[in-house]
Amino acid sequence: MLKILVCVKQVPDVNLVKIDPVTGSLIRDGVPAIMNPLDGSALEAAVRIKETYGGEITAITMGPDNAAAVLRECISVGASQAILCSDYAFKDADTLSTSYVIGKAAKMFGEYDLIICGKETLDGATGQMGSQLAERFGATMVSSTSLIMEVNEEMGTVIAERELEGGVEVLEAQMPALFTVEKTNYQPRIPNFKGWKFARTAPITKLTADTIEGLDRNKIGAPGSGTIVPRTYPPEKAEGGMILDEGSVEKNVAKVMEILADKGLV
Ligand SMILES: Cc1cc2nc3c(=O)[nH]c(=O)nc-3n(C[C@H](O)[C@H](O)[C@H](O)COP(=O)(O)OP(=O)(O)OC[C@H]3O[C@@H](n4cnc5c(N)ncnc54)[C@H](O)[C@@H]3O)c2cc1C
Repeated sequence: MLKILVCVKQVPDVNLVKIDPVTGSLIRDGVPAIMNPLDGSALEAAVRIKETYGGEITAITMGPDNAAAVLRECISVGASQAILCSDYAFKDADTLSTSYVIGKAAKMFGEYDLIICGKETLDGATGQMGSQLAERFGATMVSSTSLIMEVNEEMGTVIAERELEGGVEVLEAQMPALFTVEKTNYQPRIPNFKGWKFARTAPITKLTADTIEGLDRNKIGAPGSGTIVPRTYPPEKAEGGMILDEGSVEKNVAKVMEILADKGLV
């Protein structure tokens, strides 16, 4: 039976997030948390594979306790197992320590034929997690996947399409394989009422730094992170532009020259 791992992250709706101009940190208060949109596509890809070939979906996230909400979304459309890695000790984790925790936690529940992630997140947006997880799982890495076309369990292979700048690439990957997916063909579905109701009370396995087997505390949270963010700031606002309409091209050009001359630029 195919074992599929889906990695999902809860993110603040960045359209509503502001940066504190004094501290430079994100103001998350009152901002709704949502499933990272591309992780919805990763989940959709996993559910379609399960519908076509059978299998079992495990969903995993690292985040605060309320990130359980994104796992419930996964359960509502067909994940049979959900793992929440949540502990104060994971705080200030960069992608290196996040992928370490996810890898260690997921492996407690067996091995995976397919690992599916979003291409990147709305907030961190490093796009690094996929390749780091592929390394941790010893999996073939396929990035920017637009469609998983065929899974051949007997041969242990997957045929997939990747979106490139100038076209589409079709490739065959050996399992275990990790795919980071694009939205193109994977519009997340809306759960039906039965699924939604079941997910509301379905069990979620919570793991902490103490309960993840064999976790090295030097590799988690801030001590395990190779990245330091010294400063975050919003981009400087550019001066507003000006639209000229003097009635003709000649008059517009004359006006532009006049403005540039006034500014001492010509
Ligand atoms: C110094 C530093 C400190 C940080 N401190 C914190 C902090 O205290 N709290 C905090 O929330 N973030 C913190 N972050 C951000 C955190 O490291 C990243 O959000 C996380 O490692 C994932 O990186 P990303 O968002 O760029 O993911 P990407 O690499 O863009 O994500 C690609 C895919 O990986 C999967 N994925 C990503 N993150 C997770 C996750 N957490 N669980 C499951 N799957 C995932 C998803 O499928 C996603 O689509 C910190 C970052 C740095 C550099």
